Amino acid sequence: MKVFQEEFEVLTKKRIEVIDITEKVESIVEKSKIKNGICQIFLPHATSAIILEENEEGLISDIENYIKKNFPSNADYEHNKVDDNADSHLASGFIGQSRSYPIKNGEILRGTWQRPLLLELDGPRRRKVFITIIGE
Ligand code: ZN
Repeated sequence: MKVFQEEFEVLTKKRIEVIDITEKVESIVEKSKIKNGICQIFLPHATSAIILEENEEGLISDIENYIKKNFPSNADYEHNKVDDNADSHLASGFIGQSRSYPIKNGEILRGTWQRPLLLELDGPRRRKVFITIIGE
């Protein structure tokens, strides 16, 4: 069994933003030469998240609005006494900071609409994405 790891950076531009990282992830899977296994996508950050979803303009707006509605920035948070981003931490923690795909025949096994979307929740920032691929 082989383990292949690689990281890349994403520069975000807005406080709440959705960024499609499918092409980057797929190019790393191809580079790994691993044909069957698992690809984990992990963000080493407490104020961003990753989901597997459709990159459709209307849905991207819906996702951004869902985050703003369910994790409002103006609530009375304890964490905001020391840092002004409790809403970002809550969204990051509850949405999740990693996702994984099976790899089959050298490609990530995903439904047509299951693209890896990085959710910036406290941007603009420089984000790292760690990819770990395990298999053979
Ligand atoms: Zn904080």
